[in-house]
Amino acid sequence: MAEELETKLVIDVSRLDPEGETIEGEVDCVDLDEEFVHPFGGIRYRLDVQLIGTELLVRGHLEQDFELVCSRCGEDFDDTIKVDDFTESYEISENTSEVDLTEDVRESIILTLPSYPVCSEACPGIAQTAEKPADDRWSALDGITVE
Ligand SMILES: [Zn+2]
Repeated sequence: MAEELETKLVIDVSRLDPEGETIEGEVDCVDLDEEFVHPFGGIRYRLDVQLIGTELLVRGHLEQDFELVCSRCGEDFDDTIKVDDFTESYEISENTSEVDLTEDVRESIILTLPSYPVCSEACPGIAQTAEKPADDRWSALDGITVE
């Protein structure tokens, strides 16, 4: 049975170690409804959390697995989107008991998604994977050289 993932990433400020803490886990919060982008699993995070004065500083690493559709050849492929320098700070008051990072973490991953994903840098695209065109007018172009 698959383990149920948390859907929120919330820091309990009152319990935070004054020296700072590193938190790790997985949060399932990327629920994109896109034809070409399917997240699977949750966002894996490893974040350093520290309270400095009235500011909660959060820095660290995020990653999320996706099934994407290659913008060149149209094939599905899996990729891991990584954010190495997630950095946010939150103003804390006496009344703040929790800080919810969910939206910022989610947004950071989504903004890192490529606009035109490619399955590999070497992907030849549709034109070259398809059968060569029978039309031999194209072969005339082969002889042209550009000085
Ligand atoms: Zn491709």
